Amino acid sequence: MEKRRKLFLKRDPYRAPRDSGLFLRSVRELAEYHTANCEGYARILRERGFDPAMLKTEDDLYKLPVLPTLFFKRNRLFSVPEKKLKVLATSSGTSGSKSVVGLDGRSLFLGVGMMIRFFLYHRVLSPVPVNYIVLGYEPSAHNDMGAAKTAYGTTKFAPALKRVYALRDTGAGYEPDPEGVYEALMRFSKGPFPVRFVGFPAYMYFLADALKKRGVSLKLPRGSKILLGGGWKRFAGEEIDRGEFYELIEKTLGIKRENCLEFYSAVEHPMAYVKCREGHFHIPAYSRVIIRNVSTLEPVEDGSEGLLSFICPLVTSMPLLSVVTDDIAVRHGGGCACGLNTPYFDLKGRAGVKGIKTCAASAAELIGGRDG
Ligand SMILES: [Zn+2]
Repeated sequence: MEKRRKLFLKRDPYRAPRDSGLFLRSVRELAEYHTANCEGYARILRERGFDPAMLKTEDDLYKLPVLPTLFFKRNRLFSVPEKKLKVLATSSGTSGSKSVVGLDGRSLFLGVGMMIRFFLYHRVLSPVPVNYIVLGYEPSAHNDMGAAKTAYGTTKFAPALKRVYALRDTGAGYEPDPEGVYEALMRFSKGPFPVRFVGFPAYMYFLADALKKRGVSLKLPRGSKILLGGGWKRFAGEEIDRGEFYELIEKTLGIKRENCLEFYSAVEHPMAYVKCREGHFHIPAYSRVIIRNVSTLEPVEDGSEGLLSFICPLVTSMPLLSVVTDDIAVRHGGGCACGLNTPYFDLKGRAGVKGIKTCAASAAELIGGRDG
């Protein structure tokens, strides 16, 4: 625990810990822990002929058997009794199968501590109260989707005066509430407090576009921010042009590009990545990114496309040590014009898996269905 504390509670998330073997040792220890406490995981490692002692250098990390996020949608692997789990979140898929992810107290403590460090660094944490416009689902008893929890969690980074939701809970389902959002925005724009938008890029685009059509041009109070996470696809295949997007945001809301932050995260990999001003997701000291061949899952060279996979020794309650997503990405070694020297990845899209709909796509459809 002491080792992992050193790794996760660092003040500068992008600087490697002074003890350079810390990451590897944390991974190896946690792999041993899961092997001893989760029979299902131990069996997987045995079947693939892997022993945690095989992790001798960081170059060995790719050998740690990788579990697809899809695997967690069909299987439950826990290394602690289920009653010890503090948080249960399910991943995207309002209709399809879902992953259930639970964190125990220890993982939660480290995770929250890490997030505080991370978001302080990115100036997302602020003591100044703000008004929130959440471009996503209102949390409710009948919705345990990770996306709703993430969005709600994001409204804790600065004290909330008010939270307004674009997709309101009707008790039986969700209904878009564009007028409610519009009225709240007009009210907020006249006040002294910053406004924060939280949610899917697609809906932020719809909102800004609708404002433009109404001829609205606001100058929101200083400190206003846009925090985006999730897919950029408007509908299947149609990508929003980023340059055009940020121009639209500045024109309609008066929020500059540097105050628009884009995040990447996955329920099965409870960690956040923030896009730098050059458009890259830099890899913090807490994790390693390996891009894998789509069919063999072997690592590919930097600069080549493949499946985005992560190694991260955060979670003790579940073997989420080595997971592969269905996102296509490219990794680069570092040397970015933004000034950060850590390696980074660029998202290239999602591997086409039929029948799996992400939260972002469902929300966009729900909203798009009523658009215009
Ligand atoms: Zn950069």
